[in-house]
Amino acid sequence: MRVGAPKFPGIKRLTPAEQARLKTFRSSFASADGSCIGCGGELALRLVSSALNWEAANVRWRDQEGRVRGGGAGGGLPGIMLTEHTGCEQVCKTTNDTSAWMRTFWEDGPRSMLHATFSDGTPLLTGLHYAYQARIKNGTLDQPFFFWSFAGDGATTIGAGPIMNFLQQGWGLLIIYDNRGYMNTGAQVSSTTWPFENRATTPVGVDIPGNQFFPVDWMRIAAALNVPFAATASPAFPMDLMNKVRYAINVPGPTIIWVDSPCPKEQGFGPELTKDMSRLAVDSGLFPIVRYQDGEWAVDILRSQQRTGKPTSLEAYFGGQVKSRHLASPAFDEQLRLLSKEVERRYAWYLRQAGYEPVPAGQRKNGQPTVRLGEGVEAPSLYLPPGVEEPIRSLDQF
Ligand code: SF4
Repeated sequence: MRVGAPKFPGIKRLTPAEQARLKTFRSSFASADGSCIGCGGELALRLVSSALNWEAANVRWRDQEGRVRGGGAGGGLPGIMLTEHTGCEQVCKTTNDTSAWMRTFWEDGPRSMLHATFSDGTPLLTGLHYAYQARIKNGTLDQPFFFWSFAGDGATTIGAGPIMNFLQQGWGLLIIYDNRGYMNTGAQVSSTTWPFENRATTPVGVDIPGNQFFPVDWMRIAAALNVPFAATASPAFPMDLMNKVRYAINVPGPTIIWVDSPCPKEQGFGPELTKDMSRLAVDSGLFPIVRYQDGEWAVDILRSQQRTGKPTSLEAYFGGQVKSRHLASPAFDEQLRLLSKEVERRYAWYLRQAGYEPVPAGQRKNGQPTVRLGEGVEAPSLYLPPGVEEPIRSLDQF
């Protein structure tokens, strides 16, 4: 087993009452942190932090004297170490001499946060983990630690090399909040901006109709790097997001969760519509909710077309944003057709990988899913019984 790994506790399916409580569990971020009202990234990280605190409250371990520790009051709590890549959420959460990262209701679980540059958050996280391993080995520390980092899609674009290295060799949970641009510096195009979107560096004009490139599919890059766990999530589906965080933080090795994080300020919509925007991205198929776990793919939330037979149009998503509503106008029919074709191609690929097949027309009922898992196909479970053997992740476990 890797030295210093949190013991794999067995991620349990929660009862409805526990699920309701998890949604309101305290986050480690102070409530007024400088983000714009309705910021999707802020909402996403708050849900992530709440899920981590929930999971921390459930960790038990033995100290050097053999006593069982953990469980909060009196028993201690694991430490949580966070590194922040430069970006909107880092700037909003860490202005000069202040930080929104705080201790919550317990005082005996160390909470640390370090700011890294655009590209250095994951190397820093892995380095911290190895320093932690050394202290476990030399007996100066016996407490489990959670290691996590967050980055925007801009920092991911700049730091693609280090992040790929992290996904192959690193340690900890990386959360990407994706608002499809460098929103912190004035909404320049990033590697995840949709084609034909209007950004500061790719304005919609007479000769060029906005951004000219399809977004990078980071889930497929993560899978190619053989990461043990990679998933997408959306704040519009908070339980899915939080349960993925609970699972990912317990996996020894590198993990990544890519969270759709609409930006009201730079995409141009009302701050009360953030979750609706994210839901439209999921339901239209622009942002598939998928998971790559131990070499297998799963689609966790089908888009509305497959879930209920009723498609959600791309016009509904783009038309609701000041910056992209040109895509919902007849003048951009051709661009929307090209974009839609790529969305269909990507979505169909995920359905195939996850083992879905169409439900024959005669067996379909109104409002019921139009696809189903093929014979004998089972999606990998996010929930494991307590005491399950820790899966083998890397050679240094031996
Ligand atoms: S600019 Fe966008 S991403 Fe940045 S804090 Fe404001 S709403 Fe959030």
